[in-house]
Amino acid sequence: MTGRRIAIVTGGARGIGAAIAKRLAAQERAVAVLDLDEAATADTVEAIRAAGGEALGIGADVSRAEDVAAAVARVADELGAPTILVNNAGILRDNLIFKMTDADWDAVVAVHLRGAFLMSRAVQTHQVEARWGRIVSLSSTSALGNRGQANYAAVKAGLQGFTKTLAIELGRYGVTANAIAPGFIATDMLRQTAERMKVSYEDFLAGAAKEIPVARVGQPQDVAEAAAFFTSDAASFVSGQVLYVAGGPKA
Ligand code: NAP
Repeated sequence: MTGRRIAIVTGGARGIGAAIAKRLAAQERAVAVLDLDEAATADTVEAIRAAGGEALGIGADVSRAEDVAAAVARVADELGAPTILVNNAGILRDNLIFKMTDADWDAVVAVHLRGAFLMSRAVQTHQVEARWGRIVSLSSTSALGNRGQANYAAVKAGLQGFTKTLAIELGRYGVTANAIAPGFIATDMLRQTAERMKVSYEDFLAGAAKEIPVARVGQPQDVAEAAAFFTSDAASFVSGQVLYVAGGPKA
């Protein structure tokens, strides 16, 4: 590592975002743990501090421009200029297309796509000034299509195009942009999916593991390791890529 760098991880209160925040802190990054509710970030922030790292909890809705501006300004004030961004905040509003409401569609587009756009636009100002930066966005194997997820599949595919474009525009400033497309990762998000499919969470995990070549479901830490690589100083020639972290070659 070369010196202290400041990272923002959106949706860092739990699940994959919490694992990424802790992993980046272990890599000597000062980490702003951003989530809807600032109080909900306390566990992640405390875990980082207990391990000797530096962390700050921030409450913000990534889909709201004024929240994003205030959050990024607060990070710059309290930790320093952010040059690492992980666009991880996400929600599900699953339904088959004939039952999907306008609100289901808009909510998913707002958090994943508008959120990643607003956060990236705000953070790239600091990255370009520093002539160094890393942007990682969470796509998904659902980008390849998934029953009940027309909204989610669309935004997760959209984030891949967004990532490749950021890579092209920002590369000359020392900024890389990459996407991680996880497969089945055991988090609260999938509890919701199990409920929707009317199976117990345990049966849901066991059923999924049977379909995965490495014969297990993924853990948040599996995704955090990929984020650690993409945000490392050593990954400066890797940009515009989509890494499937799915225990096999496809969803
Ligand atoms: P999770 O456990 O549901 O955590 C998502 C976090 O994002 C929550 O803390 C949530 O806050 C926060 N969040 C939601 N809307 C937000 C907003 N508008 N502004 C700020 N924060 C917001 O999800 P996860 O499973 O860790 O997933 C993390 C990312 O990986 C998501 O982008 C997801 O689509 C992607 N992913 C997950 C899987 C998987 O198998 N789990 C697979 C592929 C991709 P609240 O708790 O307040 O709602």
